[in-house]
Parts: sequence; C-alpha cells; structure tokens
Amino acid sequence: MQIFHPGDPGYDDERSGFQTGLRHEPQVIFAVENAEDVRKAVEHAEANGLPYEVQATGHGLTTPTTGVLISTKRMNGVHVDPAQRTATVEAGALWQQVIDAAAPHGLAPLSGDAGDVGVVGYTLGGGHGLLAREFGLARDRVRSMDKIGEVVTTLEFELLPVNQVHSGEMYFDAKHAEAVFDAFHRWDLPDHVTPSLATIAFPDIPVLPEPLRGQNTVRLTYASTRPFDIDHLKVAPRLTEEFGVKPFHRASGGELPPHTYQGDNVLLSDLPAEALHSVRERAAGSDVPIFLGLLPLNDKISPGATHLLKLISPRLHVEDRHAEVFDAVRPYVVGRSRNFRFAVG
Ligand SMILES: Cc1cc2nc3c(=O)[nH]c(=O)nc-3n(C[C@H](O)[C@H](O)[C@H](O)COP(=O)(O)OP(=O)(O)OC[C@H]3O[C@@H](n4cnc5c(N)ncnc54)[C@H](O)[C@@H]3O)c2cc1C
Repeated sequence: MQIFHPGDPGYDDERSGFQTGLRHEPQVIFAVENAEDVRKAVEHAEANGLPYEVQATGHGLTTPTTGVLISTKRMNGVHVDPAQRTATVEAGALWQQVIDAAAPHGLAPLSGDAGDVGVVGYTLGGGHGLLAREFGLARDRVRSMDKIGEVVTTLEFELLPVNQVHSGEMYFDAKHAEAVFDAFHRWDLPDHVTPSLATIAFPDIPVLPEPLRGQNTVRLTYASTRPFDIDHLKVAPRLTEEFGVKPFHRASGGELPPHTYQGDNVLLSDLPAEALHSVRERAAGSDVPIFLGLLPLNDKISPGATHLLKLISPRLHVEDRHAEVFDAVRPYVVGRSRNFRFAVG
C-alpha cells in the first residue's frame, strides 16, 4: 500500500477526483488495496484522534477531510455469481465494472446514469437507478456488507434478470420549456416507467453534436423493461431524440469529464404544476446558471414522497441561490436524498 503526505509526489493526484472545485486536505492518504490496508488506515486515524473519509471516485464529495483520506480506487474487485444472481464488490468498484461482468449472464445491477460512479457510495446514499420505479433503490437489494470502522470493504447485492430495456431521450430548445414541463407533469405515468426531466445548458464546443452545441435545452429520459408510449411528450420540435429497445449497458448516459459543481436536492410530498413552473422560472431567472432535475418517485423508492427535485450549478458558493429556488416548493419538502448532494457540508 502507498501512503502519501502533503508535498509527496502523487499526493495531489491521489486526493483529486471527479469534483475539481474542491479536494480533500488530508494529513495523510492511505491508498488501500485490501481490507488489511483499510484496517491499518482506520487504526491510524483512531490512534491519533483524526477523522477519516473514504474516496473512491470523488463524485460525491461533500465536505473535505483534514484528517485521514482512505483512497479506495485500487481496491476494486468485482465478482458476479450468476447462479445466485448476485455481485460482490470491493470498496472502490465502479458500476461499469459490474454492468460489464453481469451482462454476459443476462443480468444487470440497479445502477444509475453514469458508469464511472462508485458502487458503494451510490448504494449507501440510496441509489436511484435507470429502473428505480420498476425495481426500487439499489440499497434495498443489498444482501450483506463487511465493514471496518465506517469503511465498507465488500458489498454483496442482488442483480436483476434484465438484459434489454426500452429507453430513450428527447431534447427540446429551452424556449419550449413551459410546454414540455406541462406535458411531463400531466403524464399519467405507468408505475414501471422511470423518467427524468432536466434543464441543461451545453457549452459551444466542437465535441458536442451540432443540435445541442451552445444550446439551452430541456431533456426528458425514460426507461423500463416493458414497452410504453411517449408520443404525448412531443409537444414541441425535438433537437434530437431516440427511443428503442437496447441492451441494458447502452441505456446509461455517457461519462462526463471531471468538473466543478455544487448541488443539492429535496424530496417532495406533492408537486402542483404551479410550484413546478415557479421552480423552473426561478432557476432560469437566477443570476448564476442553475440546472434542475426532476425524478418522479413511487412507493418502491420513497413512501411519502412523490418527487425528487435536484439543483446543480457548474460553480461553488451558490447555496443561497439554490435556496431561493427551493423556496418555491418549501411547503412540500419532506426530506432529502443523501445522493445528489455535491460540495455542500
Ligand atoms: C455525474 C454523476 C451522476 C450520478 N448519477 C447518479 C444516479 O443516477 N443515481 C444516484 O442515486 N446517484 C447518482 N449520483 C450521485 C452518486 O451516487 C453519489 O455522489 C455517490 O456518493 C458517489 O459515490 P462515489 O464513491 O462515486 O463518490 P466518492 O466521492 O468517492 O464517495 C462519496 C461518499 O461515499 C461514501 N463512500 C464511498 N465509498 C465508501 C466505502 N467503501 N465505505 C464507506 N463509505 C463510502 C463516503 O461517504 C464518500 O464521501 C451521481 C453523481 C454524479 C456526479
């Protein structure tokens, strides 16, 4: 196992992750490779009265640690048991590894929209996947876990007999946002369909496809193992769209490059159309870029909550601006998901 202190070659690389706006500021980093290394790191923290934090990918960094950082990215074994329909992963495994190992057996995990997110962090935070309304949260499929201190060293969970999904997305110019939000809100949503609505402003850079480059957009996504209809969502011209049956691994979104972002979320007991439009208008009218995401829930995900509303900005120190947007739904807030909290203490 490698151990890094401030100033050592490799220290900055080891503490850096997907979030580029802030980094852990540890006194020492233990780059663990197995459970014994984790034990040594936890014992070091406890013996010296230091706090410790885990980092697999840095996607979910909330508060940087100044104590001990346990970097798990090298401890990333994945084992699929097709007979038991389970996967067992080590602390730093990524979803893409599980998806790739499960697919040849006609199995899939309850992973989300990014294959480079860590399995353990995602699952401990709930784990709202592509098929969440159909099969529930990832954390509800956990069979067992091994822990040393607060560090999960192995996680065993169920896989689903899913190899194909009906899924797709539509992008609209943001000038049609009101009509698209209305159609999404009116959708008599079948319980087996997991959709999302998001606003996204794309930079004007050549790697992006022409219809999206430099555009303010509204994106709808939807997925299920069973067929469903989306025609009623086509209330305005689409910038791009696709919908069809595809292998599970092709239904995940592409991986994003590391960047700076801050975000938070609320769980809502109700979301009347006026409140949704108010959120949309406040986010669009803010003096900082705020992108919103909306996930309709059901009882399999969160009894008592109908929606998860998340806000994200490509910069830090925007908590106050996000609070102004969340104020539009304050009467309906019943909680918050541990996932979808980024660079907020
Ligand atoms: C681009 C992107 C897409 C996302 N998509 C989804 C999605 O579709 N669905 C969803 O539910 N969430 C999603 N998330 C949220 C994501 O699940 C959380 O941010 C999660 O915490 C990331 O875990 P990580 O290990 O990758 O990140 P890290 O920043 O490395 O870890 C985050 C936290 O997880 C905990 N943790 C990680 N590993 C361990 C361990 N071995 N033992 C104990 N604690 C541990 C620690 O508290 C750590 O601070 C997304 C986030 C991003 C940035």
